Amino acid sequence: MVACTRSAVVVGVKARLVTVEADVSSGLPAMIVVGLGDAAINEARDRVRAAVTHSAAEWPRTRITVALLPSSLPKRGSSLDAAIAVAVLAASGQVPAEAAARACVLGELGLDGRLHAVPGVIAAALAVREIPGVRLLVPQPNLGEALLVPELDAGGVHDLDHLIAILRGDAHPSDGADDQLPPREACLLDLADVRGQPEARGALEVAAAGGHHLSLVGEPGSGKSMLASRLPGLLPALADEEALEVTAIRSIAGQVVPGAGLDRHAPFVAPHHSASPVSIVGGGQSGRVAVGAITLAHRGVLFLDEAPEFARPVLEALRQPLEEGLIRLARADLAVTLPARFQLVIAANPCPCGRGTGDGVDCSCSSVQRRRYSARISGPLADRIDMRLQVRRPLASALGDEGEPSAVVADRVLAARERMLGRWLGTPWRINAEVPGPALRRNWPAESDGSKILARAVTRGALTLRGADRVLRVGWTLADLGGRSRPGADDIARAISLRGPEAA
Ligand SMILES: [Zn+2]
Repeated sequence: MVACTRSAVVVGVKARLVTVEADVSSGLPAMIVVGLGDAAINEARDRVRAAVTHSAAEWPRTRITVALLPSSLPKRGSSLDAAIAVAVLAASGQVPAEAAARACVLGELGLDGRLHAVPGVIAAALAVREIPGVRLLVPQPNLGEALLVPELDAGGVHDLDHLIAILRGDAHPSDGADDQLPPREACLLDLADVRGQPEARGALEVAAAGGHHLSLVGEPGSGKSMLASRLPGLLPALADEEALEVTAIRSIAGQVVPGAGLDRHAPFVAPHHSASPVSIVGGGQSGRVAVGAITLAHRGVLFLDEAPEFARPVLEALRQPLEEGLIRLARADLAVTLPARFQLVIAANPCPCGRGTGDGVDCSCSSVQRRRYSARISGPLADRIDMRLQVRRPLASALGDEGEPSAVVADRVLAARERMLGRWLGTPWRINAEVPGPALRRNWPAESDGSKILARAVTRGALTLRGADRVLRVGWTLADLGGRSRPGADDIARAISLRGPEAA
């Protein structure tokens, strides 16, 4: 007799549904699994048999063939265990075939029959939701993740006996997650902690409002990381589907805290410069594609501290995500596209010795060393950065100044975002940072006195044409923050100062 059920495998950051078909026929006892599978799936045979043997059901003492379809899809890991068991039990008449066919089952089986948590449950849940009438059954520890996806019939399963009872209609799946933690609210870092850095705080607000990529240059200890880590607290909360997308990525990376609920804060990801290129960009072999820091930073902030120290290929690899909001990983047998739309913040010392700020009298670097250092952030990467901020150690006298808390600044950021959303309605852009320079120059110039300042700076050689585009982009964000309908002379002058001292 042939029976089937469903399960899911993760490819990149999406789940694909898999049909698990079992054929129990007369013949010598044996079990064959067909459909591309790795070593883990061969081990699954032994786990599934042991788990069934320890359950209330019986392992059929005949010839069993299990097919995992589509066979072209690379399948990995142990999340198919429970579905294989269900297909075998349905094919041997121990659970109703109809109930098995209507279920999508995830979970690794322990030898004792317990269902263990698997990664990628949110992605699987999103895929199952597309198919009406299918019920998702997940290991109880994963139920919190599955329940984050609305309009889905999902339940938790403790062990194989529980699963069998559910399919026979003798028991209900669990409908509540184990533990509910309070949302992450309290751990967000507040801008009020940044004392005596009015310029830097202001620049951070502008970067948050316009989504501008930002570079922070300053000596060690000047507070660059402190500033960067406060950017997510200024960004608008993620919308439902965005939050789900971000949490699904974390679930695949095994980073979802059970019971933590849907996290609506923009992610903040800060890989170390010594981290491997795969851990930053993503990669690995097909069927085992690991998401990198740039994908974990999707819809949030990617912070590269000591950016010039990152390996050249890593910095080069940022080009595609910065242009397209994704990264394409081509592997021999499978091409995977991972989302990677992030706001980039890079931090650097002024020079290799770190003391080359201001008049640079303490700096021990040669001019060649300094040039080479800043040239590491070059070309396409530097081209994408609208704002360059010099961060100075706050004066001791300013340390008592308490700044505005993040919540107050975030309100202004949100109001500015709403203004720009209205302006870019009907265009492919949502935030000012996404608007290409030529389009901006042609259709959305500054007020005439602002445009004159820009033109003069270009004539003087203080700004390149590209630099002038970036100034105009930031000028629009300043106008949006100030509630002005078009950037004026003051907005352009301030945008020029926010571009920083380097001419490029
Ligand atoms: Zn130096």
